[in-house]
Amino acid sequence: MSAQLLSGKEIAGKIKESLTAEVTGLKEKHGRAPVLAAVQLGENPGSAVYVKSQKNNAEKLGLEYQLHQLADSTTQKELIDFIEKLNRDDKVDGIILQMPVPDGIDGCTAVQHISPDKDAEGMHPENLGKVVLASGALAPCTPQAVMELIAASGIDLYGKEAVVVGHSEIVGKPVSLLLLEKFATTTVCHIGTGERGNLPDHVKRAEVLVVAVGVPGLVKGDWIKEGAVVIDVGINRVDGKIVGDVEFELASQRAAFITPVPGGVGPLTVTMLLRNVIQSFKNKNE
Ligand code: NAD
Repeated sequence: MSAQLLSGKEIAGKIKESLTAEVTGLKEKHGRAPVLAAVQLGENPGSAVYVKSQKNNAEKLGLEYQLHQLADSTTQKELIDFIEKLNRDDKVDGIILQMPVPDGIDGCTAVQHISPDKDAEGMHPENLGKVVLASGALAPCTPQAVMELIAASGIDLYGKEAVVVGHSEIVGKPVSLLLLEKFATTTVCHIGTGERGNLPDHVKRAEVLVVAVGVPGLVKGDWIKEGAVVIDVGINRVDGKIVGDVEFELASQRAAFITPVPGGVGPLTVTMLLRNVIQSFKNKNE
């Protein structure tokens, strides 16, 4: 393997150090810590893992983490009323609705009721719109994590060929906009590209490659351009192991930098969530 690993854990560690110092300063200045309120419906083992990690990470940074556990039987209206109560609470800076939600609840609609100023995940349409406008958004967390990993490689994106595989609202589309903001020449590939057989041609041109599809080994190692920066967002369980969307071993022989899966994008995502909460706090108080 010749590629250098982009360790999400290591990069997150450095960002957390500076966020911890910032939170200490904010507490001294404003007399309280930024508060993240998490809303969880019922007891879902999947979201319980995220809740635990959010709580641990938040408290390590000095943030206050409130977990609001609502009953399984909560109705859509009760959920929205609860979110709106948190919106009005001056002591709450960030809100996250834990997914998945029980059947019968429309999580996407509920998220749109979170005030854009307290939208910790950066998924409110107003924040997504601000990503288009490049104007002070609380941007979505995974795309921010991708940009931090690319920055850690030291590459100057100006004029570079960037290829994004996947065009979801949560990863592909916002990542493409963030890359454009850095003046990378950005190509977005998706299922249509794959089905037409054009994916290898696009990937082979990529000096920066971001893959967010959810198909293990979709991107073959020998498609990777020599010296590329490869960010694999995919999380797939294969034979009890977590793997990405890129053939890691072969790709590592060609890339200059590559993210491991697990241990790449994942560990940074929660840090970006908490950074958004600190940003919300500062937007309100500074
Ligand atoms: P999604 O299902 O919403 O979107 C998948 C995208 O892949 C679509 O744009 C689709 O057109 C494209 N696609 C599907 N098959 C293709 C093919 N054969 N060729 C080219 N494009 C193809 O997925 P998502 O929510 O963006 O998640 C993508 C992956 O990233 C998943 O594995 C998910 O678990 C992972 N993920 C990781 C994190 C993290 O923090 N590490 C966060 C979000 C998502």
